[in-house]
Amino acid sequence: MNVMTNPAVFDVERIRQDFPILTQTIRGKPFVFLDSAASAQKPRVVIDAMVHAMETQYANVHRGLHWMSERTTEAYEAARDAVAALMNANDRSEIVFTGNSTGAINLLAHSYGRGILKPGQAVLISGMEHHSNIVPWQLLRDSHGIELRVAPITDAGELDMAAYEALLSDGKVGLVAMTHMSNVLGTVTPADRIVRLAHANGAKVMFDGSQAIVHRKVDVQALDCDFYAWTGHKLYGPTGIGVLWGKRDLLERMPPFMGGGDMISSVTYEQSTWAAVPHKFEAGTPAILEGIGLKAAIDYVQAIGYDAMTAHEAALTEHALSRLAPIEGVRIIGQAQDRGGVISFVLDKAHAHDVATLLDRQGIAVRAGHHCAEPLMHRFNLDSTARASFGIYTTLAEVDALADGLIRVREFFQ
Ligand SMILES: *Cc1c(COP(=O)(O)O)cnc(C)c1O
Repeated sequence: MNVMTNPAVFDVERIRQDFPILTQTIRGKPFVFLDSAASAQKPRVVIDAMVHAMETQYANVHRGLHWMSERTTEAYEAARDAVAALMNANDRSEIVFTGNSTGAINLLAHSYGRGILKPGQAVLISGMEHHSNIVPWQLLRDSHGIELRVAPITDAGELDMAAYEALLSDGKVGLVAMTHMSNVLGTVTPADRIVRLAHANGAKVMFDGSQAIVHRKVDVQALDCDFYAWTGHKLYGPTGIGVLWGKRDLLERMPPFMGGGDMISSVTYEQSTWAAVPHKFEAGTPAILEGIGLKAAIDYVQAIGYDAMTAHEAALTEHALSRLAPIEGVRIIGQAQDRGGVISFVLDKAHAHDVATLLDRQGIAVRAGHHCAEPLMHRFNLDSTARASFGIYTTLAEVDALADGLIRVREFFQ
């Protein structure tokens, strides 16, 4: 374990052996997967944990009085403990499981948005949000009379802090809902300052941590934010499970979002009462196997350690920027000082979709399109970019393959 936690000797080849899918060849070429920001690959321990549960230890959770249900409940609830430890939550009851980040943000928009925010108050987002942190607030605006404000970003792709502060200054903003790391630009937002300014102006803060938690150690108590949303499948876990962390007193004040089984204390036709948090927000049979898989993913990440992961990704990002930027006709979108392992770029005279297709012919998987962030594309007068994103299993050689591949693609368009 010492070897793995020392970033100086982070052994990426050993890490790669944990990911069965990476051993394949695609179109006769080594599989160069540079699309982890869309969804990460899964280590063997995650796959095994889910298979093992299905083969040996599976029943519905929480209600069963039999041995099998109790064991499954323990395994599933252990995921909540793992998430609480990962984020340094004050209490495991502050961890609400959802389907993904989208589910977490919609839960907040419905419950906090309709239950706590008052018509006339505002929600403040940034100009680099994923659609899942735009559209739920638009729906709230249109149904509940909430104003939606957008803090602009600079040409470098950083939050314009002066504009952000000005948008808070009339005291009408009830909630800041902002990305902690952009899935397009790689920008890591200055979370401490965002929280401090919001709180000074009477606003709560929710971070969309879908990308950030993959690249940075997140400590919600140190950040002192109020809510934090993320999604399991980008942190090497399964699809179908996400997290909304919230400060307990806020969660307790919030009304339920969905009604159904598991979220009640008692039900009559006249009136129902709610279970305690977090179960009040977890109606219906949860993603049991996915929770078990997520715990395995968290254990895996914790064993490697964020210091090692962050250092590895910083080295990859620096190398990628130094290789891609000098290629004639390539323009990198977003030049934030503080950034993670996500790089968007465009190639002169070429559509991003064609770039991605031609890279794919060389076995290199990158994303192309608007990356669920159309308003951000418009901010840079683009309709799409190509995007390379890195994970713990990404190698410097793969970054070189991308740069060399791009040089070949470029020749195609000259
Ligand atoms: C991926 C992503 C989301 C949405 O995650 P889902 O798992 O699709 O709900 C939201 N915000 C950011 C920044 C993302 O990268």
